[in-house]
Amino acid sequence: MPKLYLLLGGNLGNRINYLKQARESIAAKVGQVVRISKLYETAAWGKADQPAFLNQVLEVQATQTPEQVLYIINGIELELGRVRHEHWGSRVIDIDILFYDELVQQTQRLTIPHPQLHHRRFTLMPLAEIAPELMHPVLDKSIVKLLASCEDSLEVKVIADEL
Ligand code: AMP
Repeated sequence: MPKLYLLLGGNLGNRINYLKQARESIAAKVGQVVRISKLYETAAWGKADQPAFLNQVLEVQATQTPEQVLYIINGIELELGRVRHEHWGSRVIDIDILFYDELVQQTQRLTIPHPQLHHRRFTLMPLAEIAPELMHPVLDKSIVKLLASCEDSLEVKVIADEL
């Protein structure tokens, strides 16, 4: 089954609880969650005057195509009451597709690998925890290598060992 990596993030309300609900929906609708990173906290990216984000990366055994996964995760975002206030604005839950096996695709709706992942420490840190040797199929570097050369200066810290 394809190995799918998802990034969860949120900075409103009970952030830990929203991430938990998102994980449960993903397990029910997308596929078995086989690895789960710790929770990481980062100051808001792109806009500093909003609450800090919690992020987490999951490895999932996907049972659907990438387009189907996107449709499902958009549904989960809506279900959990995502409110989009502005670009880079606050949201209850955001779910991004990072990798889908070694697939490389760029369509209007979906770019895989996620085009920003190597620029963002809050993505690379949890990813490095659960998949350090995973190779980026376009940049041809492992996650630890990408993290070592990442120029994002925002501090990312583990906030919980437990989920
Ligand atoms: P946002 O939630 O603001 O990050 O953007 C969501 C939209 O980005 C989705 O509706 C997708 O059409 C598009 N998109 C493109 N590539 C990806 C990806 N790798 N993961 C999730 N959304 C993506």
